[in-house]
Amino acid sequence: MKIGNIIVRLRSFLTTVITLLSHLPTPHRIVLACASLILIVSVMVADNTSAVPVAPGQFRSNLSLDLGESDVEVNSEPSVESSAQVKDPEPEVSYVVQKGDTLSTIFDLLHISQTTLYKLMEADLNVLALDTIQPGHQLGFNFDTEGDLKQFIFRSGLTYKVVFNRGEKGEFEYKEFIEKGGYRREVFAGEVQGDLPRSMQRAGVRIAEAYQVTSLLKERMNFRSHLRAGDRFQLAVSRQYVKGEYTGNSIIEGFVYDGAIRKQSAFLFDDNYFDADGESLEKAFQRIPLKRRYRISSGFNPKRKHPITGLIRPHNGTDFSVPIGTPVLAAGDGVVTRVIKHRYAGLYIEIQHNRKYTTRYLHLSKAYVRKGQKVSRGQKIAASGNSGRSTGAHLHYELRVNGRPVNAMTAPIPVVQTIASKKRNAFKHQVAELKSLMAEQLALAKKQ
Ligand SMILES: [Zn+2]
Repeated sequence: MKIGNIIVRLRSFLTTVITLLSHLPTPHRIVLACASLILIVSVMVADNTSAVPVAPGQFRSNLSLDLGESDVEVNSEPSVESSAQVKDPEPEVSYVVQKGDTLSTIFDLLHISQTTLYKLMEADLNVLALDTIQPGHQLGFNFDTEGDLKQFIFRSGLTYKVVFNRGEKGEFEYKEFIEKGGYRREVFAGEVQGDLPRSMQRAGVRIAEAYQVTSLLKERMNFRSHLRAGDRFQLAVSRQYVKGEYTGNSIIEGFVYDGAIRKQSAFLFDDNYFDADGESLEKAFQRIPLKRRYRISSGFNPKRKHPITGLIRPHNGTDFSVPIGTPVLAAGDGVVTRVIKHRYAGLYIEIQHNRKYTTRYLHLSKAYVRKGQKVSRGQKIAASGNSGRSTGAHLHYELRVNGRPVNAMTAPIPVVQTIASKKRNAFKHQVAELKSLMAEQLALAKKQ
């Protein structure tokens, strides 16, 4: 048996093994990995080729060894259509990100060159999806007949997917997919015993939903001193499901707190939260994350084409022509979710604002905040710069709504302070409807 054939066999074995393994819990993985290795080894022995015995549990290092022979022919399995709309064909190699993995360790493992990784990162510049790979994220790889990476699929959770396809010039083009799923409204009611999040949890509310509520009302309520045992709460929440599975996304629709000391409520209306009297609960955003207006050197353009490759290279942000060192301000209250140095985006910051808004600030020279830090609107978070791949000093500013990039200069952002008088009735109607649903639930909870 020729060494080339062995590699071909190994590769198809390993592909199957990786695909299987990535869907299984760790103990099963180890068992399966051992079984597969024994199988592989026996195939080699049966062919009178000298087989190297492999210790169990060394699956990974073996994998990288075996796929390493880049000069050997590789099997040309039917390739996936480059059109990303095709309904999820199984990629040739599937991999679920493990603890401690980085993109380069994974690419090393599969013997995909660093050049290819850089090309992917270049395409990812406008998504920055690959910067935050975490255990559980799913990666898919498809190769061409030469064994070069042709398609790369990144999937996080049930709702988000980015597909990178390689064009003729070797550059990658990406498409982002966000699954809308369906929302189901669920209503909960209960009494406070101990702290609010855990009391809500006992009533069936997810802990993340409880924290959404407390962050929504943090300006209005002190969740220590205002709480008394026996206070009642009611919550209406819409949970997102894809194919019957909860995605982790919940939208708080209504919350009522009826306490001995404090009465408080929050209702979602027209994408903003108000109390039952129609007073806004959220702070406004500022349109421009700078102290004053600067010239826009490049605007938001989702259809921008690369001048040389002709591939779609969207410009997902707004570029402000600002000198290096210009203070960059947080566009709204939020939590810093990323402070990262990226080969192309340079030093950049991401802020997650309440529920659905994210902002990004690229090509910075200095960051004044760290990951996890709370920031408020107008706070100086960075100094602008020219880092990464940048043709001149500027600030690239991005606004994403539910993960989708929007034009930050024109998008509707929370600036509403009160409800317009013509919408008052609609608001009252909605509050009344939710309140009656919640009252029903409270009555049920009391019976139990
Ligand atoms: Zn830009």
